[in-house]
Amino acid sequence: MPETLITVDLKASPYDNPKIHNRWHPDIPMACWVKPGDDFVLETFDWTGGFIKNNDSADDVRDIDLSTVHFLSGPVGVKGAEPGDLLVVDLLDIGAKDDSLWGFNGFFSKQNGGGFLTDHFPSAQKSIWDFHGMFTTSRHIPNVKFAGLIHPGLIGCLPDQKMLDMWNEREIDFIATDPGRVPPLANPPFAKTAHAGQATGDVAAKIAAEGARTVPPREHGGNCDIKDLSRGSKIYFPVYVDGAGLSVGDLHFSQGDGEITFCGAIEMAGWVHMKVELIKGGMAKYGIKNPVFKPSPITPHYNDYLIFEGISVDEQGKQHYLDVNVAYRQACLNAIEYMTKFGYSRAQAYSILGTAPVQGHISGVVDIPNACATLWLPTQIFDFDINPNASGPTKLVTPGMDMPLSLDL
Ligand code: ZN
Repeated sequence: MPETLITVDLKASPYDNPKIHNRWHPDIPMACWVKPGDDFVLETFDWTGGFIKNNDSADDVRDIDLSTVHFLSGPVGVKGAEPGDLLVVDLLDIGAKDDSLWGFNGFFSKQNGGGFLTDHFPSAQKSIWDFHGMFTTSRHIPNVKFAGLIHPGLIGCLPDQKMLDMWNEREIDFIATDPGRVPPLANPPFAKTAHAGQATGDVAAKIAAEGARTVPPREHGGNCDIKDLSRGSKIYFPVYVDGAGLSVGDLHFSQGDGEITFCGAIEMAGWVHMKVELIKGGMAKYGIKNPVFKPSPITPHYNDYLIFEGISVDEQGKQHYLDVNVAYRQACLNAIEYMTKFGYSRAQAYSILGTAPVQGHISGVVDIPNACATLWLPTQIFDFDINPNASGPTKLVTPGMDMPLSLDL
């Protein structure tokens, strides 16, 4: 059995666990060390550190302090790793913790986090998903069941000081372009809720003051939320500091492309069994600036889709120039409108797009003035026929069943 190098107690606060951290900074001490060729297990909290509960209220989603996230396990030091190397990580297996066989999906309120469709869903809502081996269902969203595509939403190596300073400078400059925006353009360092792992004293204070927040993906990978980076994948990470400092967290049981609901995919606590190797000098040898990865040989086998098109004309009819973001939003809204015809609420439909193995594709970016994006809805996740036909949609969803809703304060 591989050794479990980091354990988490889901009944305890992640702030009391010195092998957890929630900022990116080169001075965060390594939580443990391994050698190239080693395989090992890391347990992880869910990204909120247990703040979101398995109940039928969305008040926790509404009230969460988003400066606390993400709680990551690590950093793991790899002996011999030096700046310029590639750290090769095999995700040998990933699972939920035995004492936590459930996950959550939600939409943040527009005042606290927002999401891809926050203007259409401004209030906090939540759905709970139960795991049945490799499958999941939700008591809040009937007539849907699918296989997990388990992956870490967040994984990457520590930045060096130069890279960290660059991140902070560019994001703080960006925030300054519209400082009052709700939700904000980005999140600057915030000392009060920083968790600097095993660091103490002046080092901990420096990490808290400068540490980059974990929400955006950056050059090192980080919070990429790529559903296909699933168990069985092999990832090649740029190394910036001696020992690399690999951290992981934000495990997802399943997610649709885009993680459009933001809180989040199907979020869970769990464990990752991984193996590490090094390619010395690999960044320059292969011209690699951002991580690259190979997909898993095992993915859920859904091969029939209903595909919704969207173009870069927004909800008000305004033309946008080749804007993929606007086009994907229209594809998602079109899919939501369609699903309501079968009895789903708009919130249930939005949650399905955030959780199920939905594909998003950039289909065309040259046909001026419209970009075209497509949203691929797997039809086999429904226990009824969701395809269009001459007799029209049959309403199947139980009346009155919906996701818990919190009204904003
Ligand atoms: Zn997540």
